[in-house]
Amino acid sequence: MKMNSNYSKLQGDKGHLVDRLYVHWDVSTQCQLKCDYCYAIKQYEPNGEWGKLDSWARQKLIIYALSRSKLPVFLGFQGGEPTIHPRFFELLELSWNAIEKHDASRLYVTTNSLQTVEFFQNYPRIEHFKNSIKPNGHPKLLFLWSVHFDYIEKYKDFIKKVLIIQEKGYRSKVNVMLHPNPEHWPFIHKIINELMKHDVEMHPHFLYDDGDMHKIHNYTPEFYKEFSYLKEEKLFDSKILYWDKNKTEEANFYTDYEFYNKDLAHFNGWDCFNNNYEINYKGFVQQFCFNISADLTKNFRFFENITEIKPKVCPHNGCYCDGLLKIKKGLKWELKFDLMKYVILIVLIVRICIIIIFLLLN
Ligand code: SF4
Repeated sequence: MKMNSNYSKLQGDKGHLVDRLYVHWDVSTQCQLKCDYCYAIKQYEPNGEWGKLDSWARQKLIIYALSRSKLPVFLGFQGGEPTIHPRFFELLELSWNAIEKHDASRLYVTTNSLQTVEFFQNYPRIEHFKNSIKPNGHPKLLFLWSVHFDYIEKYKDFIKKVLIIQEKGYRSKVNVMLHPNPEHWPFIHKIINELMKHDVEMHPHFLYDDGDMHKIHNYTPEFYKEFSYLKEEKLFDSKILYWDKNKTEEANFYTDYEFYNKDLAHFNGWDCFNNNYEINYKGFVQQFCFNISADLTKNFRFFENITEIKPKVCPHNGCYCDGLLKIKKGLKWELKFDLMKYVILIVLIVRICIIIIFLLLN
């Protein structure tokens, strides 16, 4: 992909590949909790779809559709709480087998970590899954933990579970919800400190409103002041490039905190190499941000037919999900339009001159 020469502005995460599909699958809508900030509840509950699990036969059709992908897949299990799926380990094994043929494939499991310590102790070591470790030892399977406010009393258990899974060879990353309610702030500071002490990768997660990832929550200036230390890159798993070539030779790298605090997350009219898809609990797939969708239990070729990621023009005013922020984006040179005007003008002048010369000669 030639991005650099075509665009006057660039944005995206260095580690985010363009030619890979990022597929987030709600493997059920069942969960032990009911959090007020849960996007899945907001999406499913109004239709009476919270607490549901599709049939195993249909879920195997989804895995089959994934196995046909021509591009590597970064597959995520979401929900609900994936680990309480009644056939969780089978689901994990079959899904990994379906995508592991591509070296750049990855699989992550989100969890609220409410499963018992024994559950995580009995979890298979990463070597159990074929091709799950790169030659440099980098794990291809990971856990994305969410810290919930129910842990105020039991946060040590939470850390213990994260460390057990890391010891088994998986990569772990903790999503720390940045709740706007100041009552939760002492706990958020505490958990960030604990995770730093244990050198656990984390991602402080900004919330968006009404389950709409184009509508960030309107955080107060007090919030930004309170969490100003989140500017530090070491607190985030990624740094996001923002490069305005009209203004600077050097690209800037920002954390999510700076992006939102500086109000930079607007890409309306930019080319977006969006490669993120969501599969709902019934097997219906939709591309994030666009009206492209299919029923995977009938259309097995949906992923197979995506052979390259072509840019689409962003129609939205806000890009407020940390996953979407990582996608590569570029704004075409405005100069090109100016040049076009000059070219049209010159062609017109030449034509007029030819007509005048022609008239004079006759
Ligand atoms: S809102 Fe969606 S389409 Fe727009 S830039 Fe972000 S990811 Fe791309």
